[in-house]
Amino acid sequence: MEGLRRLAAWAAHWLFPQTCAHCREDLPREEDAPLCARCRQGLRLCAPPFCLRCAEPVCGGRAYCTACLGRSFACPLVRAAFLYRGPAPALVRAFKYRGRREAARAAGRWMACLLPGFPELSGHDALVPVPLHPRRLRERGYNQARLLAEELGRLSGLPVLDLLERARPTRPQWDLGRQSRRANLAGAFQASPRARGSSVLLIDDVCTSGASLEECARALLRAGASRVAAYVLARQTLRPVNS
Ligand SMILES: [Zn+2]
Ligand SMILES: [Zn+2]
Repeated sequence: MEGLRRLAAWAAHWLFPQTCAHCREDLPREEDAPLCARCRQGLRLCAPPFCLRCAEPVCGGRAYCTACLGRSFACPLVRAAFLYRGPAPALVRAFKYRGRREAARAAGRWMACLLPGFPELSGHDALVPVPLHPRRLRERGYNQARLLAEELGRLSGLPVLDLLERARPTRPQWDLGRQSRRANLAGAFQASPRARGSSVLLIDDVCTSGASLEECARALLRAGASRVAAYVLARQTLRPVNS
């Protein structure tokens, strides 16, 4: 039976060889990762010094970035496993646009490995993926944030709860200015009453301005959540980072 299973795996790999999402090199059959070893090493950790609230890299010993300084937030803590640079964008595109669910699962496992490095994210009751609009969910066949959360949940022991839904479709945030981003997202999410009293860790693939996470957190607090923080796979930085 085991031999048969191995033969099937070998045949599947031979028929549909997996390639590295970044450099497109063929991956070894036993490799359970969407990036080759070299590209995995090219992933840059999102490590301090960064803004204590949003994890945007900062320099000069500053505690907060200019966008967060002196403001209060529904989501007062955002942390990311990696910076959105090097092989990270290709990794995200693999599960977002090229149907590679296994890439999201591997990314979720990497997020789980790095989670203990952020003790400030501990003490939550549940993982809540940022939802897709039902139309996009139908097109893609899965919500990549949920795949990340499932893997993270499996390894951390935290339950994954779908406490949020999209109330209406939104335009992609990257082609909008700051004001229009806020208008684009206002009231875009609704939270379930089951959120009442819970301390929630929001999960998403990429954080750019943090506006979606903030809007999700507002919806959860409106529904009675006691605390919301966010953990994403990759942090897109608004300014260039050295090296
Ligand atoms: Zn590679
Ligand atoms: Zn900040």
